[in-house]
Amino acid sequence: MTSCSVCGSPNDLPCQACRLQPQDYHAVKDAWLVHRREEADVVYDRGPTVEWAVAAMPGGIVAVWSRQQQRFLAVPTQAPADARRYAWLELTTACPHRCRHCFLGSRLGHGHVPLADVEKAIAEAAALGVDEIVLTGGEPTMHPRFVTLLECVLETGVSARVLTNGWTQREAVVAALAATGVEVEIPLLGWKDDHDRMTRTPGSFQRVTDTLRIYRSRGIALTLTTTLTKAGVHALPALRQFAAELGVPLAPSSLVPQGTAVDNWEEIAPTGS
Ligand code: SF4
Repeated sequence: MTSCSVCGSPNDLPCQACRLQPQDYHAVKDAWLVHRREEADVVYDRGPTVEWAVAAMPGGIVAVWSRQQQRFLAVPTQAPADARRYAWLELTTACPHRCRHCFLGSRLGHGHVPLADVEKAIAEAAALGVDEIVLTGGEPTMHPRFVTLLECVLETGVSARVLTNGWTQREAVVAALAATGVEVEIPLLGWKDDHDRMTRTPGSFQRVTDTLRIYRSRGIALTLTTTLTKAGVHALPALRQFAAELGVPLAPSSLVPQGTAVDNWEEIAPTGS
């Protein structure tokens, strides 16, 4: 007998209490966040600016971006030699939402990283031999040079993944995502009003579901994600059905106690976590 890592119930998986399926774990994201907290020797910029990291998954970070030294620092890792390695690049802290679980916390809403800094980080990540560069934020598509940066990644020969909240329906962005064939992950944080309560943006559920349908119709490689808050766990059956209707995978990830999630933990965390 094991205990469910989401709701804490003494259940074998699939958990009978919160209905988490073993395949629902999003090991890559979880492992990155866990190791990020544990790497005490690494210089992180914890101020209201943007943070960068390169990670080897599953197993641990292999390098992080130091704003102080303006370069990647190698750090110890337990990662197996064949682990898929990716660079996590936060392009901006701008975002239309103020999510109750946002990992950026007080770093949210402090602007974009200059183009030259991102280009340098992309070049360094590629030189480190990562398998994939993840473009995230904030909301990465709000970076005024997002399309340029996406093309910059692909020019290095490294594959790209974009973590977006699905707010953007601008044709230039949609066309670039479709033309480049990059993987795009979009979260639904609950079903209908629950999603809007999590983002604190009225109408955001309607907008993101519209975006998902638009992106799907344009042939963009989509994954639907969710964070397993109370709202996310409650929405899992509806999300599975919606993902099936769209013909895309669903990849939930665990709630992590950092950023705004710490302040709202009692309100948003699944019972027992
Ligand atoms: S969409 Fe992402 S970056 Fe924006 S507030 Fe929500 S969690 Fe934070």
